[in-house]
Amino acid sequence: MMMGEGKEYPVKVAIRSRPLSIEEEQTGAIGCLEFIEDKPQIIVAFEKGFTFDYTFDAETTQEVVYKRCAAHLIDKFIEGYNATILAYGQTGSGKTYTMGTDYYHNNVLNELETQGIVSRALTDVFKKVKDVKDSKCQVAISFLEIYNEEVYDLLSTVRQRKPVRIREPGTSVLTLGLEEIEVYSTEDALRCLKQGCEARTTGATAMNANSSRSHAIFTVHFKQILGDSHKRTSKLHLVDLAGSETVRKTKSQGDRFKEGVNINLGLLALGNVISNLCADGGRKQNYIPYRNSALTRILKDSLCGNSFTVMIACASPADSNLVETVDTLRYADRAR
Ligand code: ADP
Ligand code: MG
Repeated sequence: MMMGEGKEYPVKVAIRSRPLSIEEEQTGAIGCLEFIEDKPQIIVAFEKGFTFDYTFDAETTQEVVYKRCAAHLIDKFIEGYNATILAYGQTGSGKTYTMGTDYYHNNVLNELETQGIVSRALTDVFKKVKDVKDSKCQVAISFLEIYNEEVYDLLSTVRQRKPVRIREPGTSVLTLGLEEIEVYSTEDALRCLKQGCEARTTGATAMNANSSRSHAIFTVHFKQILGDSHKRTSKLHLVDLAGSETVRKTKSQGDRFKEGVNINLGLLALGNVISNLCADGGRKQNYIPYRNSALTRILKDSLCGNSFTVMIACASPADSNLVETVDTLRYADRAR
């Protein structure tokens, strides 16, 4: 095989631009991202080019994004592999829109067209579970938030939410104290999304945290009983990452500074883990630095050779966000 030809990386990277916002248009911002037709290439400010696995311009619909870069992971997940879809980017770049980790835009009452990955993935999961033959299946949901390196259960019904503890026996990951709610339909699972979104805005961390400073992980668990005592479980993590800009804009000392540093820790550790995984086309895996953050510890058994990962880097097309957008593209480029 020629160098760079047909290389199979364990992590695929997509770039998605949202449309210019009304505010951006009103302040005279202009688009600075050019998408090359028929090639997964993007040129920033007429100058620097990047190539990714997938590129989605501002006109790309939610359905196309899902079908092109997410749908095949659902098949793998049902086959028993762990799969992860992550949205990365500065606040306001479209992470929550893309992932659909916002109940009010992703419930059954909402237009199908704008629904993000969470509800589309759930619909496919339940369709495929029906087709699984000769075994008993179980689907469950957990939903957590990582803020300041602490992990909070967004589905906990306990009033005083205690941070979840992470343990890593061998190659597996245990999240002690994290609820897993068994669900029987997409609507059931979306009720968990609703409950978690409400906890996110009213819960223990909400006083200091807004969603741009924390990572949210919505996880679908699939358990299959194959024969007498043989069980197979897999996890599908749908991750709405903290805003990538937080550190630079938080210059104050004390708590807010710590907050910025910790968020950076998660995104930094994630970048390192992914680029280590992809080194040498994903074949040579020496030391993968999972332990450096809560985010990478939780994703450990889903960010490894035997799992499937897609990172969607979200960006504003406006020249007023050029610095952040170039940062995002560099991060995504390094992951690839
Ligand atoms: P983030 O989660 O990264 O902070 P959001 O997902 O909240 O950003 O997006 C910011 C705003 O832009 C929202 O009003 C959202 O509806 C809108 N938006 C984001 N991406 C798109 C898109 N591809 N098409 C249309 N509107 C979008
Ligand atoms: Mg968001």
